[in-house]
Amino acid sequence: MALVKCNECGKAVSNVAPTCPNCGNPIQPILIEQTAKMWKGPVLIAWLVLIAGIFLFLTTNEQGKEIVKFAMYLGFFGIVVFKVIIWWNHK
Ligand SMILES: [Zn+2]
Repeated sequence: MALVKCNECGKAVSNVAPTCPNCGNPIQPILIEQTAKMWKGPVLIAWLVLIAGIFLFLTTNEQGKEIVKFAMYLGFFGIVVFKVIIWWNHK
């Protein structure tokens, strides 16, 4: 929880308040949540790549393992990067 400035009246308002208690203007959290949600899809995809990679790794031949390993690194990297972006978007 943090204090944000109401962009209508300029007063300090809790960012968990749905509206400004002073003027009734809707406050940011809705926007913050939407930004974070936007990045949850890519994280899910990255997880799926990683999980699919583990299964493929167990079933594929030596040559395939190299490709799968690369995909898994990408998936893992994706998760880390998107987690940081989500964390960054959470104020
Ligand atoms: Zn206000």
